[in-house]
Amino acid sequence: MSNLETAPAVHTRGGREEVSARPVHELLEPRTTPLGESTVVRRLLPNLGRRMVGAWCFVDHYGPDDIADEPGMWVPPHPHTGLQTVSWLHEGDVLHRDSVGSLQTIRARELGLMTAGRAIAHAEQSPRAHAPLLHGAQLWIALPDAHRHVSPAFEHHTDLPRITARSGLRGTVILGEVDGAASPGTTYSPLVGVDLSLTEGASVRLPLEPDFEYAVLTMSGSCHVDDVPLEPGSMLYLGCGRRELPLRASTDSGLLLLGGEPFDEKIVMWWNFIGRTGEEIVQARTDWNAGQGFGTVHGFDSAPTPAPELPEAQLKARGRVR
Ligand code: MN
Repeated sequence: MSNLETAPAVHTRGGREEVSARPVHELLEPRTTPLGESTVVRRLLPNLGRRMVGAWCFVDHYGPDDIADEPGMWVPPHPHTGLQTVSWLHEGDVLHRDSVGSLQTIRARELGLMTAGRAIAHAEQSPRAHAPLLHGAQLWIALPDAHRHVSPAFEHHTDLPRITARSGLRGTVILGEVDGAASPGTTYSPLVGVDLSLTEGASVRLPLEPDFEYAVLTMSGSCHVDDVPLEPGSMLYLGCGRRELPLRASTDSGLLLLGGEPFDEKIVMWWNFIGRTGEEIVQARTDWNAGQGFGTVHGFDSAPTPAPELPEAQLKARGRVR
């Protein structure tokens, strides 16, 4: 999915100064932002007080929306650099096309993982005949400097490993490894993403990696995460230094656990691009608007989205950030 803001801000982020080395409870308030005509997304990252969780640098939660009589998702071709995107659905289906030739329908609890690397373009839409409900999350992962110029690629994984050892908890490992189960999805830094389904009355403890920082997004239901009550759309930042996470469900609940080694590198993020300098961002924008370097998304019935105007003063003032 795309950041469709018309005047996106520049974010510099990363580095250890923002990371809590010890366990904390930090509730992140979502910011609602329109995505196309029929969808509103709740943006949890970047957030005023929190820019990243490990290499996870962007979290949008949308739905559940009734799109039975509507076109649903409709995001025209747009570019990305320096990141991976994860499409994760609890309800519905999304048709993905990209400039490396992928054409793939992604369904609930299947992993659509796109590695932009040096440059990619993609488009997403609800299929013409689509499920009545759409509910999901769009997640971005910053690529470390050593890998941010890799070739663009797309992976679709339908048979992700499950966590079933605890009564009342079913988990699907999206990326990384938890409780001895490892996702086949390609990662470029130590991180984890897990989808957790808790049944009403469940009370479990999930093993964590103490060197990782973590956050939990509640997508549905009412639950307690480390004794903090959470409702749908809430995200709780948990810091580092935990060996396990207590989870209790008041109703059937669906959560996303995101974590990773704190991301040491400073990055510059604007619109759909991640770079290391303002100059790189300016170049990526120029190339995209000139139709160069990102390839072509075939088969989408609309023109590519032009990049918005740059907040040039801001980009120039920041310059090199490391
Ligand atoms: Mn996108």
